[in-house]
Amino acid sequence: MKMKAAVMMELGKPLEIREVCLDKPKAHEVLVKIAATAVCHSDLNVLNDPTTPIPQVLGHEGAGTVVEVGDYVTTCKPGDKVALSWVPYCGTCESCKNGQVSLCESAFGPMYAGTLMDNTSRMTLDGGPCYHSSLLSTFAEYTVVPDMSCVPMPENMNLTAACMIGCGVATGFGASVRAAGVRPGSSIAIFGIGGVGINAIQGARIAGASRIIACDVKDENLEAARKYGATDTLNTRNIADVAGAVKALTGGIGTDYAIDCTGIPKVGTDAWLSARKGGTVVVIGAYPEDATLTLPAGSFHRVGKTLKGSFYGDVNPFNDFPRIAQLYLDGRYDLDSLIIEEIKLEEINKAFDAFLDPTAKNMGRYVITFGS
Ligand SMILES: [Zn+2]
Ligand SMILES: [Zn+2]
Repeated sequence: MKMKAAVMMELGKPLEIREVCLDKPKAHEVLVKIAATAVCHSDLNVLNDPTTPIPQVLGHEGAGTVVEVGDYVTTCKPGDKVALSWVPYCGTCESCKNGQVSLCESAFGPMYAGTLMDNTSRMTLDGGPCYHSSLLSTFAEYTVVPDMSCVPMPENMNLTAACMIGCGVATGFGASVRAAGVRPGSSIAIFGIGGVGINAIQGARIAGASRIIACDVKDENLEAARKYGATDTLNTRNIADVAGAVKALTGGIGTDYAIDCTGIPKVGTDAWLSARKGGTVVVIGAYPEDATLTLPAGSFHRVGKTLKGSFYGDVNPFNDFPRIAQLYLDGRYDLDSLIIEEIKLEEINKAFDAFLDPTAKNMGRYVITFGS
């Protein structure tokens, strides 16, 4: 079939709206009609990455309706509403066997090659090859994706809200609920109130945390953090002793949990120091590859803290995505106000321009919706 898609034709250049040919789904693949797709900062990274195979249809946050399934597909059926996951886990690798499906790496080879799981593409452009992005390529009217990427949603789920679940929402929610394991009545400090941090706040709120301390350098983000459940805010821009400031808010003790969403190693140190003795610190942001995280070695054993890296919020998409959707339907999880603006596919470059504008809102998503 032919369909409209936003295609990366050149490194770092605006996406072009092109007509792309899409083949039928093979075994373990699903054809999805995209209803909505969100633009993520990672899409900008892909656009500026010289190793990205091009031309490529970008986009990895999407939701839609199943049109057709290939052989052996058991995760969904035609007509199902689905939210898409970019970690289609295999179930048989060491991580999966240990129940840590968010650490499954089976999809990463095909992901970097710009293909689906069988190392081939279902798309062509002007008769030549056209590559997939994160096995999802959601900036398109239709897409073919792995069956393990298709997570059924409740029948009455709003797909414009659902399209955001599979990336920053899952990662932030999971950081609090899964990775940190926030307990009722506890305290937590969350560093970096962007697309992930705001969802870590929501996760902590739903898990029953009593004190949620939002830390950021932007007053605007801190103000918004309160709307999502932060009980305290700390603008760390001009604070030399950040951990001291967090401790001052918790009777000198420190928080039960700290989550670093920033990707800045210095903030990781602050998060570590902000947690109480015996507390748990979760690092969810990506530090630079060559960076070093500095923690005080003196009395390390005496403070009894846990430091934990978390990828994709430790979520199991088939378990956690429908729960997030149900929380949304119950009025307990706010997805609607995470939408900065609804735009058309043709306006997609506006979302990319916003990433480069330091004055633009960076806490939600531009969402592309497709008329039915
Ligand atoms: Zn994303
Ligand atoms: Zn696996």
